[in-house]
Amino acid sequence: MADSIRVIVSGVTGRMGQRLIKILARESNVSVVAGITSADNSLVGERLSRLSNNEQDSAPILSDFEGLDADVVIDFSQSDAFNAVADYCVMSETPLVSGTTGLSQAQFDRISQAGHFIPVLWAANFSLNIQIIKNLLQIFKQINNQGDYRITETHHQHKKDAPSGTAIALAQSLTESHQLKVVDTNQFTLGEINITSVREAEVPGTHKICCDFPNESITLEHVAKNGDLFAEGAVSAARWLVQQDKGLYDLNAILLA
Ligand code: NAD
Repeated sequence: MADSIRVIVSGVTGRMGQRLIKILARESNVSVVAGITSADNSLVGERLSRLSNNEQDSAPILSDFEGLDADVVIDFSQSDAFNAVADYCVMSETPLVSGTTGLSQAQFDRISQAGHFIPVLWAANFSLNIQIIKNLLQIFKQINNQGDYRITETHHQHKKDAPSGTAIALAQSLTESHQLKVVDTNQFTLGEINITSVREAEVPGTHKICCDFPNESITLEHVAKNGDLFAEGAVSAARWLVQQDKGLYDLNAILLA
């Protein structure tokens, strides 16, 4: 295990990327090698101190990974940036932690392929408690023959994808289907599961799952209070992932470790 973990933050100028920089600055035995953003971002060529207001953060903000060497990449960027991130990690044999959502099936296949070469952990939501809820939903589905499940997700207005990756992941705990269908602008189905997306103010991420059975109903609601939940979860995952062999991991691997 490396004494100090050298991290590249992909999507560094975004909401999550900036949180990551601040959280990584507080961590011991971690250093940031570089932050990556889109080529048209005005901060390309600047130092991370421009984002953190900490003069010590001298690592560069770059628009590509060329020549970089690190122990792990933490990626919270955009779906159209993801292929370059995955390719760099495979080519340079750098473990990858990614929370980027809105990925296509081809990109999920790419993640699976990458797991043959490097340790990879992708999660739609870096809260371990969301993983526990997913596991619980699988149990509900197994033991209840009849059940009607509805998911409502609420996020800030800047969110680009809908429904949220977390809502899809929760629904996948309840159905075998991979067919996400658009019913209306904010209404979706994944198999028999209905998903409603709400975009509201600066909400970090709320997921409500209503489970209706013949003689009882259960409502689960997870409320992220702020984005630090996801950034801290991703940093913990990165610390864990750099110690693993190549393979495809999810948060259950950390829960059960
Ligand atoms: P954002 O739009 O604020 O930031 C995205 C960043 O990616 C921007 O800085 C943009 O410049 C950058 N980017 C664009 N092209 C790039 C490229 N080619 N290379 C590198 N970076 C590039 O979004 P955000 O709120 O920070 O969220 C980022 C992603 O993380 C989204 O997909 C979001 O859904 C997801 N997310 C996941 C979790 C989780 O727990 N898994 C939590 C929150 C957000």
